Amino acid sequence: MTHELTLDPADVAHRANADLTLADEAELALSPELAVAKDAVGVDLPAAERAAAQFLAALGVRLDREGLSETPARMARAYAELFAPEPLRLTTFPNAEGYSELVIARRIPFRTVCEHHLLPFSGVAHVGYLPGERILGLSKLARLVEYFAARPQTQERLTKQVADSLFECVSPVGAGAILEAEHTCMTLRGVRAVGSMTVTSTLLGSLREDPQARSEFFAIAGVAGRDLAGVAAR
Ligand SMILES: [Zn+2]
Repeated sequence: MTHELTLDPADVAHRANADLTLADEAELALSPELAVAKDAVGVDLPAAERAAAQFLAALGVRLDREGLSETPARMARAYAELFAPEPLRLTTFPNAEGYSELVIARRIPFRTVCEHHLLPFSGVAHVGYLPGERILGLSKLARLVEYFAARPQTQERLTKQVADSLFECVSPVGAGAILEAEHTCMTLRGVRAVGSMTVTSTLLGSLREDPQARSEFFAIAGVAGRDLAGVAAR
């Protein structure tokens, strides 16, 4: 017997546009009946292209050169791609062998866009859990990151969404996510802190409460605990 949770991109679009709290987000993401037919906010590429052209013109960028004439259309398609998650189906299986050690996917590459400047941030995620009665297909740990990254984000929220959904879906003994990312809104502009990495973590269950399990998780992920900016775990 398998348990399934389907997350629908239309629902993400809905949630990305409705100013929801984290608690609401988690609830929506984890209620299959809410994750199906939401009032989808579709992508209007021609409107996005017109807006991109206006935006560039307002910044004094002239589009009458050959290399730039298609830029508004390319901009629209590029952002549409960044905000288009594939549907995600999280299927869990019984932990028949009683596996009780950490399962960690290390250095999962991700890219997303910061919701404050709409500039990219990218890095790696380490996602893992200590199994209870059920286990999850290994590739789903990476898919979970990809799914929540496909919308304007903050690193803190992305970290929490990945850990929370893993915890809710698989009901493990513990679960955690650590993200290391470089934000171009910090490295290319503003303070221009080139090479700086932001590290965030959310730890749940035994990974939060048991110091030994926690340090094992950090050690396998290759992250020193003292480097963590620390995101509120529950
Ligand atoms: Zn930013």
